[in-house]
Amino acid sequence: MGPSSPLQRLSDSLQSEWHQEGRRVTPQRKKILGLFEEIGSGTHLSAEDVHHKLISCNSKVSLATIYRTLRLLVGKGFLNEVELSEGGHRFELSSQEHPDHHHLVCIRCGRTEEFESDYVIQAGEIAAEAIGFKLIDSTFNVRALCPSCQELNY
Ligand SMILES: [Zn+2]
Ligand SMILES: [Zn+2]
Repeated sequence: MGPSSPLQRLSDSLQSEWHQEGRRVTPQRKKILGLFEEIGSGTHLSAEDVHHKLISCNSKVSLATIYRTLRLLVGKGFLNEVELSEGGHRFELSSQEHPDHHHLVCIRCGRTEEFESDYVIQAGEIAAEAIGFKLIDSTFNVRALCPSCQELNY
């Protein structure tokens, strides 16, 4: 990853933005964003996943700190949040290289797959236009059962 990669720029802007606000970029924030950068866009992690991954790299960050940091990174636009049907949340790197996409979420195991669809964007545009709203983006979360969960009887 070269110094001018989008992820590097993301990290640089993160630093400068936080400096402008007079906040230090804490090691935890860097560590968590770094984790997402490392795995790249298109991977959806829960706060618990982040916790486990940090523990496996010998980083001791509490789950509460991870939750707080994830919220902050979402608020700053560095991560996207995907809401699961049962109230869980997954987080993914927000990247210009990663196109507008939608999610298929397994309601049992939380497996999350992405798909692209112009129809969803068009549907959003049509709906917004009809009542005079200006579209910013349309995302669509589909509740579903993944193949392995379909095999389980319940
Ligand atoms: Zn996604
Ligand atoms: Zn499943």
